[in-house]
Amino acid sequence: MSKALRAALARASDTRDAAVGRGVLASAGQRLANVLGRGPYLIVADENTMGAAGQELIASLTDAGCSLVEPLVFPGRPALYASYDHCLTIGQRMGSATVVALGSGTLNDLCKLASHEHGRPYAVVGTAASMDGYTGFGAPMESDGVKITRPCPAPAVAVLDLDVIAAAPGFLTASGYGDLAAKIPGGADWILADVTGVEPIDADVWAMVQGGVASALSRPADLAAGDPDAFAGLVEGLALSGLAMQAYAGTRPASGAEHYFSHLWELAHLGADLDPPLSHGFKVAIGSLAMCGFYTALLDRDLGAIDLERAAATRTPWAEIEADIRGTFTGALADNAVRETRAKYAAGDELVARLRPVVEDWPAVSSRLAQQLVSGPELADMLATAGAPSRPEDIGLSADDVRGTFPRAMYYRSRYTALDVAWELGLFDELVDETFDRIWV
Ligand SMILES: [Zn+2]
Repeated sequence: MSKALRAALARASDTRDAAVGRGVLASAGQRLANVLGRGPYLIVADENTMGAAGQELIASLTDAGCSLVEPLVFPGRPALYASYDHCLTIGQRMGSATVVALGSGTLNDLCKLASHEHGRPYAVVGTAASMDGYTGFGAPMESDGVKITRPCPAPAVAVLDLDVIAAAPGFLTASGYGDLAAKIPGGADWILADVTGVEPIDADVWAMVQGGVASALSRPADLAAGDPDAFAGLVEGLALSGLAMQAYAGTRPASGAEHYFSHLWELAHLGADLDPPLSHGFKVAIGSLAMCGFYTALLDRDLGAIDLERAAATRTPWAEIEADIRGTFTGALADNAVRETRAKYAAGDELVARLRPVVEDWPAVSSRLAQQLVSGPELADMLATAGAPSRPEDIGLSADDVRGTFPRAMYYRSRYTALDVAWELGLFDELVDETFDRIWV
C-alpha cells in the first residue's frame, strides 16, 4: 500500500481497508473476511461486471472461508439507472447478507444506499476507473428536479484491481480521467475560498487529494491504450479523492464550480438517452475546461488595481439577485438556488473584508492559482488524448450553451468559487465573455 493511501485510510471515517494494485482481486476474500467477517455475502453486479471479475471474486471469497448467497446480477444493457427501485431490489435480496458491489458508479451508489438503509456496512470491488465515488460517502439521487446526495457511509473495504480496471471499456477510463481533472479548477476554487476566509484549506486533506493529481493525469495516451501500469496513479487518485472527502466530511476537496456545470446538465437529462448515457466524468470534463478558461481570463486581470469600496458600493442588492435567480431557474430548482446563493451573499463592509486579501495580495494569490492550474488548451489536449470530451460539441452542447450555464453554476450552490469572486468584484460578465470570445474559441 502506498504511503498516501495509508495516510488517507488513517483519517477516513468509514473505509477501513483499500487495495489498489495489479492482482489485488485475489486478496479480496481475505480483506473482506478481516474487516466484515465470513459472510454470508451477496455479490451485486451487472452482466458486464460479473463477466469481468465475478468468478475470481467468488473464488477469492470461497478460499477465505466466506459463505455466499446467489449473486444479484442486473442486465448489462441498458446501463443501470440511479433509481430508488433498484435500491429496493437490492434491499429485498439482502436478508442477513453483507453486500459486495462488483462494479462502478451507479451500481456502487445503489449498494451503498441499500446497505445503509438496512444498517449494514458493505464492500466494493471496482471494475472501472470511471469516477471518484468508490470511496466517497453519499449516493447521488434525483428528487424533485434537484440532485440530492443521500447521506450514507462509504464502503468499509474497497478493492481496485488494476488488471480488471485496465480491461474495462475505454470510455469508462476517460470518464474517470475527466472526474480527476476536475481537481485542477476545483482546487483553485478552494484556494480562493481559503484566501477569503470563507472555507480554510485543511492541509492534510489538500495533500491527500492534490498530492498525486498531476502525476495521475500525466499518462493519458497510456491510459487510452489500456496499459495496466499507467492506471496506478489514476485509480489511486480517484480512491484518494473519496477518502479525502471522508476525512473532511464534505465534498469540497473533490469538487468546485466545474461540478455544478455537470450537475445542471444532468438535471436537464443531457445525453441521458444515449447508449451508454453521457457519463458524470464527461460532463465534468467540459465543466473543468470552462472553469480553466475562466481562470485564464481572471489571471490576466490585475485585481490589485480594483477599488474595493467602489465594488462594494455598486454590488447588486439582494432583491435584484433573487429576481434574476427566479428568472433563470424554475420550480424547486429556483427555490434551491435562492437559498444557496443567499447563504453566500455578502455586501458592504462584510464584502470588503472578504475580498481584501485577494485584492491586496493579488501577486501572491495569482501565482498560487497559476501553480495549481493548467491552461484551457493544455487541459483540452490531455482530455482528448485520454479519449474524453474536449469541446462542448463532444457532449452535444454549443459554446453558447456552456456560456449560458455560467450564471446558473454560480447560483446553484452555496459553495464559494472563482465565479463568486468575479461576481463580487463586478467582473463576472466580462470574464465569461472573454472565456468564450478570446480564450476558448
Ligand atoms: Zn465527480
